[in-house]
Amino acid sequence: MCGIVGITDHREAARLTHLALFSQQHRGQESAGIAVAQGAVLRVHRAMGLVQDVLGGLDFTAFKGKAAVGHVRYSTAGGSLLENAQPLSMQGVRGAVAVAHNGNLVNAVELRQALERDGAIFQGTTDTEVILHLVARAPGTYEEAVATALQQCRGSFSLVFLVISEGRTRMIAVRDPWGFRPLVVGKLGRGMAFASETCALDMIGARFIRELEPGEMVVAESGRMSSSRPFRAERSAACVFEQVYFARPDSVVFGATVQAARTEMGRQLAQQMAGVKADAVVPVPDSGVHAALGFAAASGIPFQMGLIRNHYVGRTFIQPSQVMRELSVRMKLHPVREVLENRRVVLVDDSIVRGTTSRKIVRLLRRCRVKEVHLAISSPPIIGPCYYGIDTPAEDQLIAANKTNAEIAKFLGVESLTYLEQDRLLGAVRTAARRRPAPPDYCTACFSRDYPTDVPTVPLGRVGRTSLPVLAGGTA
Ligand code: SF4
Repeated sequence: MCGIVGITDHREAARLTHLALFSQQHRGQESAGIAVAQGAVLRVHRAMGLVQDVLGGLDFTAFKGKAAVGHVRYSTAGGSLLENAQPLSMQGVRGAVAVAHNGNLVNAVELRQALERDGAIFQGTTDTEVILHLVARAPGTYEEAVATALQQCRGSFSLVFLVISEGRTRMIAVRDPWGFRPLVVGKLGRGMAFASETCALDMIGARFIRELEPGEMVVAESGRMSSSRPFRAERSAACVFEQVYFARPDSVVFGATVQAARTEMGRQLAQQMAGVKADAVVPVPDSGVHAALGFAAASGIPFQMGLIRNHYVGRTFIQPSQVMRELSVRMKLHPVREVLENRRVVLVDDSIVRGTTSRKIVRLLRRCRVKEVHLAISSPPIIGPCYYGIDTPAEDQLIAANKTNAEIAKFLGVESLTYLEQDRLLGAVRTAARRRPAPPDYCTACFSRDYPTDVPTVPLGRVGRTSLPVLAGGTA
């Protein structure tokens, strides 16, 4: 889970990259960074922290240059290292390159081990560094080397490379052949802007052109773009969880406005739960809000904010002790007694992972003497880990992989529990898709265990989370 940005041919490339990262902060809060092309050299700044912490006080007069890439990274337990902060950069025989990556390679362990046997030395533990080593060793121009390197990679990668070579500065943007993660391009003055989400283009005043196609490589230079398809065609597998939870509601992802997709999920959920008797539809803010609005519109049950979110509780404030972790939900969410007391509520959330947070939220409601809680989840049960960049835990920690629906409802303390059926979820995202009649096929592997690629042989729980032999979760 990361956000990436690339800007070419604009005199304020660094400042605009900062702003575009700011609007993608939801994609990663662990570290942030920027790399700017200054003549023949790259100037890089990256550090742990939020965008504003890392870049807010930066002297941008020292980061002048017409092309820049930027990155925000999501925090995982094991890989929280400055060495893993991006953009990563290197100086090779062909010149300098910096890269920002969103995704996770499923064969990164094997690739890294082969590179190490061949003498490669790594600074950090991310799969992005594996990609850079592969690029450094591949022959030809940087464009050819990037294509050759990525042909060896399996899994999810949306990437922007900032390249200074042969006296020219250019940007190479690539999306993996499955199209797991989003990557869009827009026109910005005489230059181009690339970003994970359209909300970043909107922020900097870039005009959205299109999403890169799965398996597409775009080279942007001097305000022009050229496109190629260096990969073997694979089954389309856009991550449906971007629509369910991860992307910002005002973004257009995989051809659908996220807000419209979530509202439609809520409508579908209401149809599935037709006949439920309730006095209010209450979202778990923020991610449950749009589905709850859709549910309320379809069911005729009034939408009410029975929980108020405190937006100023940071991760670091929550983490230091077990006591604080226990209090975390109460610090983030405040129940509104007037809405809840003696009422039957449909509580709408986007997903349940371990179940511990949902249980705490239900307890909050019970303290306000809510009469009934009918929990409505706008996605199917999560029964498998994600190997493509969303930080879901191993299967033994996923409540739906280990308990029946009735057992989960009992554990959570709710009167009923309904998950959105997978067909309805896919119907909702397709209904919302703008580029009808051909929306992409989606990855649903965490709901279905139908993985579009082979999966890592090293169990996810032992990679990148604790013992950290290498990567996974490193760049996602
Ligand atoms: S496994 Fe789930 S979270 Fe991961 S890419 Fe597929 S749909 Fe998205």
